[in-house]
Amino acid sequence: MQRLVATSLNTVTLQEVEKPEVQPGEILVQTLVTGVCGSDMHALQGHHPFVPLPYKPGHEVVGIIREVAADVKGFSIGERVTIEPDLPCWNCKNCKNGNENLCENLRFFGCGYEQGGMADYWTLPAKRFHKVPESFSDEAASLIEPLSTPVHAVKLSCIGNKDLTGKTVAIIGCGTIGLLTLVAAKHFNAKKIVMTDLLPGKRDRAKRLGADVVLDAGSSTLPSDVRAEFGESVDIVFDCVAIQHTISQAIAMADKAGTVMVVGVPAKEVTIPLPIIQDHQIRIQGSATYLPADYEDSIKIIGTKGFNALDFVTSVFPKEESQKAFDTAIAGDQIKVLIRFS
Ligand SMILES: [Zn+2]
Ligand SMILES: [Zn+2]
Repeated sequence: MQRLVATSLNTVTLQEVEKPEVQPGEILVQTLVTGVCGSDMHALQGHHPFVPLPYKPGHEVVGIIREVAADVKGFSIGERVTIEPDLPCWNCKNCKNGNENLCENLRFFGCGYEQGGMADYWTLPAKRFHKVPESFSDEAASLIEPLSTPVHAVKLSCIGNKDLTGKTVAIIGCGTIGLLTLVAAKHFNAKKIVMTDLLPGKRDRAKRLGADVVLDAGSSTLPSDVRAEFGESVDIVFDCVAIQHTISQAIAMADKAGTVMVVGVPAKEVTIPLPIIQDHQIRIQGSATYLPADYEDSIKIIGTKGFNALDFVTSVFPKEESQKAFDTAIAGDQIKVLIRFS
């Protein structure tokens, strides 16, 4: 079988490797499609804070079960599945509290783990699997994992409320995570959503996908431009870029009493105006991956009439063209790039 390896800076290589053997509690999967994630692009370019090169990429995966360990119940050969790629210890405080995304001994399939999903076959513990509804295309199924990250962030931002009813929202960045955050915020009933981006093409796409207002992130008065849309501070700002400039903008939009959700993966540390955070009671909330319930919500959203996976999956490459898939994704005008293995 073949497995893709991010061998060095900006280079991926298909390597011939041994097919993994199913251990007790595990399932063996043959890959159909895998998504190229923003974190894969960061890692390949040497910018990921936690994933050094070389590594075995692929955590957004859809495949067919080809083998099930004798002690595994509830899954059968031939079923189409996706996975939660985080691999918790199930023993630490956070795991025991049902926050296994924050496991203190967390490992992550496709990010510095001995296997990745960009391979013909791979194995994982059965506990990490979710079945894909039959009505979903492979493209739609490939969005379950990436959508679960914004779903988790939106649910965290609700802080004691059942959803975002009555809440105003700003989303910084109209890339893949920004657009999926839009989908999640709409699903959870946000009152009005303003999105910002530097590129007109990306703003147009956000507008077409349902943002109420899109604004040029290049404006020197951006925070006040956004506030002017609401006539007051924004209740919840989702920073899907997470660099110094955007976190400063987000805090200014949320000032006073708002929440800033850090959804994008920051490449490095930033400075924040702590006196303002304290005196204006601003909340800064990190959001990391997802939990099983977020997958259930994502499956519900993707199954909704009107959700079109091809609004988000903008190109698919065969595994032999994996380098081109990564280069295309890094070039930046795509939303989600997939690699097809079978
Ligand atoms: Zn991802
Ligand atoms: Zn744990």
